Amino acid sequence: METLLLSAQNQETAALAAELIKKGELVALPTETVYGLGADGLNPDAVAKIFKAKGRPQDNPLILHIADAADMEKYCHSIPDAAYALAEKFWPGPLTMVLPAKDIVPKCTTAGLSTVAIRCPDCEITREIIRLAGVPIAAPSANISGKPSTTTAQHVLHDHEGKIPMIVDGGPCRVGVESTIIDLSDERPRLLRPGGITPHQLVEVVGDLILDKAVTESVAKDAVVKAPGMKYKHYAPACEVIVVTGSKEAAAKYIVEHYQPGNRVLCFEEELETFAAFSPLAYGKESDEDSLMAGLFAALRELDDAKIGTVFARRPIGSGKALAVQNRLMKAAGFRTVDAEPKGLVLGITGGTGCGKTTLLKAFEEMGGWVEDCDQVYHQLLKTGTTLLDAIEARFPGCVDGFKLDRRKLAGIVFNDPKALADLNAITHGAVKKEVLRRLEHIPGGYPIAIDAIELFDGGLAELCDVTVAITAPEEDRVKRLIARDSISEQQALERIYAQKPESYFREKCDYVLENNGTPEEFREKCLAFFRNLLIIKEKP
Ligand code: AMP
Ligand code: MG
Repeated sequence: METLLLSAQNQETAALAAELIKKGELVALPTETVYGLGADGLNPDAVAKIFKAKGRPQDNPLILHIADAADMEKYCHSIPDAAYALAEKFWPGPLTMVLPAKDIVPKCTTAGLSTVAIRCPDCEITREIIRLAGVPIAAPSANISGKPSTTTAQHVLHDHEGKIPMIVDGGPCRVGVESTIIDLSDERPRLLRPGGITPHQLVEVVGDLILDKAVTESVAKDAVVKAPGMKYKHYAPACEVIVVTGSKEAAAKYIVEHYQPGNRVLCFEEELETFAAFSPLAYGKESDEDSLMAGLFAALRELDDAKIGTVFARRPIGSGKALAVQNRLMKAAGFRTVDAEPKGLVLGITGGTGCGKTTLLKAFEEMGGWVEDCDQVYHQLLKTGTTLLDAIEARFPGCVDGFKLDRRKLAGIVFNDPKALADLNAITHGAVKKEVLRRLEHIPGGYPIAIDAIELFDGGLAELCDVTVAITAPEEDRVKRLIARDSISEQQALERIYAQKPESYFREKCDYVLENNGTPEEFREKCLAFFRNLLIIKEKP
């Protein structure tokens, strides 16, 4: 079969492509994310051709592409308000929503699921083709399954020349990684795949979001997962990829020790000089996450050569667009990472309310330290995951209302019931510790870290620390500070202080005690001097 490669600029292209789609043939289409391999999403025979051409596992469902947001109602039912709000804000654009499917959507498109993934792409010609064909187009990324995705028409030609009738060339893809997938078919919105629309942008619209485990962790082949595609090997070039984290200097040192002739380095433009001796290939600028997304797959394709042996790859840090880049790169690497830099010193910081912990932590950050606030971790766990809420609900039925903790009810139960309180603490402490551990693994090497926790010892967090530090202050100063900070009465301030562990407890437990008994400026100086002695502080990279 001859493969037609037609420009999107060409007048006849859209009509020709639509004709082929109507006839049940395959057409590779540009979108703003990646090139897709499209077919009539309502025609099981046409959809079967996609799976065959890609060598895609049958249980990996396809995304249905529509030309207008309103068409969502033709293929989905029980559509929540959140879906309309997201469509309004992000469509056409790089966001896919998983919603309950109507019967009109064939089982081969949804891989037998009761839900369907749906998206309105931001690409004029592709929407035009969908309109002309009069059917939604099912399209996965156009690459051969398991290989890096296709972000140019030439990539598609490389994978499918002679095997599909037509490719529409719309130039390189603007976003460059596949769409963000959000599942709205369950009680709480869940991020299944990170992409160009960030978790933060989603939360602004839907108010709540669970990050599916598969976003950051490797998934076993036999696992039951929300997006079946997440368990398969993905994006991988023919050689081994190892992600090397840490500063570029530390990474260079690691690479010198492990580099074999022929190996390559996949890095940021800013690092080309550092890695000059190791045949570096830059996929974008570290300072420009859009460029990293846009360049990643083309770079992985360039490195798709078994003779290279090993690619040492660098990944960005962050929870926005960087998350999408990390996700693809980690999958390409089969989650093989090495931290080239040993972890910095981990400090446990504790002490009663009003002692001046904030001043100390600010000084710590000023010196290049990284702070993990356990109170914040706890609140985020309640907000962005179900595990903690599920565990609380299992032990204290009725205390979780929808996705919210009924604090008053829970307090009523554990008040005056030491056994119940101990159970609650075991649940929350366990969850916070696990999450802090996970975060520590993601902090780049070399940073000194402070774990800020009032329950440093009871919560088991002290075990993660090299050094523990207590902050103390004279009671009258604490009272004054609490009155000013929280606008409470002296009586209330005292009650708060007495509700906590006494100063003697912290003094006894901690390796160091820092006394905040002067002016704030004096305390800050004291903290800075203390850290200087304790740490070899590094500049933030
Ligand atoms: P691709 O088309 O190659 O970008 O892959 C589509 C992705 O969407 C895969 O990870 C699928 O598992 C996921 N997906 C498609 N339909 C659904 C669905 N109904 N529920 C969950 N995930 C889906
Ligand atoms: Mg794909």
